[in-house]
Amino acid sequence: LEVSGLSKHFGGLKAVDGVDIAVKRGSVHALIGPNGSGKTTTLNVLSGLYKATSGKVVLDGTDITSMAPHQRTAAGLGRTFQNIRLFRSMTALENVEIGAERPGNTMIGKGDEALTERAMEALTFVGLGSRANELISSFSYGHQRLIEIARALASNPTLLLLDEPAAGLNSTEKLELHELLKRIAAQGLTILIIDHDMTLVSEAAQHITVLNFGRRIADGESMAVLRHPDVVSAYLGSE
Ligand code: ADP
Ligand code: MG
Repeated sequence: LEVSGLSKHFGGLKAVDGVDIAVKRGSVHALIGPNGSGKTTTLNVLSGLYKATSGKVVLDGTDITSMAPHQRTAAGLGRTFQNIRLFRSMTALENVEIGAERPGNTMIGKGDEALTERAMEALTFVGLGSRANELISSFSYGHQRLIEIARALASNPTLLLLDEPAAGLNSTEKLELHELLKRIAAQGLTILIIDHDMTLVSEAAQHITVLNFGRRIADGESMAVLRHPDVVSAYLGSE
């Protein structure tokens, strides 16, 4: 993923302001920064929910800057949301099937059975295959996050955008999430993850981009970035 000079302004508020991000194929790349620094807005522009004020987004050599969200999904982009967005009156499997139905998926045209099979595969991958037919409301918050990840995986993305998947998880669930991220990466998927858990971020990501007030203030190899004085002061304040 090549993001260059990306901006998203809401009236006078420069939520994202000229940001560059280069995510290497097959890597886990973290996007971090204090609350309100523009992380979710960046993801919303990348997935096409918001139109960029300026800048360019290239995925796998294709310029997706002006594409509609469903076209980006077809181009290989999958995402989860900071605030869980599942259909609560439907089962886990039904929710994940929606992800498998993306245009351009080789599954389309092979009938409902293939869709169900792909969705089951994704649910099983996140460890919830045995509960496929339960309603969303019967799942814990942590498991609902896993179902969102399964829905994204069901579309066979090449790039997965995760917005705070560890938020609200207990320590056991966080360890499970960490394991899952490793297994996703081992499948060759590229991951761009937003999270506040620095242990998770430093262990899971090879590369970190840091935003503050909509601007990129640091970028590079994880440990070096976390020691960067500007990053330390953005998080902890200066002395
Ligand atoms: P983060 O995810 O880093 O916490 P956000 O991207 O959610 O930050 O928000 C960045 C800034 O943009 C904040 O000041 C927020 O209030 C503002 N913002 C986000 N979405 C909108 C919107 N739809 N309309 C107006 N302002 C917004
Ligand atoms: Mg956010």
